[in-house]
Amino acid sequence: MATKRLVLTFPEKIVTKPITYRLVKDFDIQFNILRAEITADIEGKILLELKGDKDKIEAGINYLLSEGITIQDASKDIIIDKEKCVNCGLCPSLCITKALIINRQSYELVFEKNKCILCGFCENCCPVNAIKLKI
Ligand code: SF4
Ligand code: SF4
Repeated sequence: MATKRLVLTFPEKIVTKPITYRLVKDFDIQFNILRAEITADIEGKILLELKGDKDKIEAGINYLLSEGITIQDASKDIIIDKEKCVNCGLCPSLCITKALIINRQSYELVFEKNKCILCGFCENCCPVNAIKLKI
């Protein structure tokens, strides 16, 4: 079984369509919604984790694209500038998924992308702006 984590951006005209329902029904894909928001200009954004057969996930992604949805690979959406980071430990204390931790031997920040749900807490708290997140 394959797993993919994606950020979907829905334009206003399809924000109420049962898109995720179709992923289950037509492509046999399981999904978890890790985060969802509607922006001020009524654009919808969802962070989804998809699980299923690799070919069916690809077919499901093609379906999403055909509906006008913009897709980003979620694993590429957070960047930590190691030069700026002073390993203060603030962001790990706020990271609910433990994607950010301070290594007990080196006292350096460690990031595990596969645990990140792109909540944005770390970006907002960093005193030296070492974290950039785009969703
Ligand atoms: S965006 Fe959220 S989950 Fe991801 S590393 Fe930052 S605090 Fe942790
Ligand atoms: S809050 Fe910023 S400076 Fe502190 S550990 Fe996190 S990334 Fe580094």
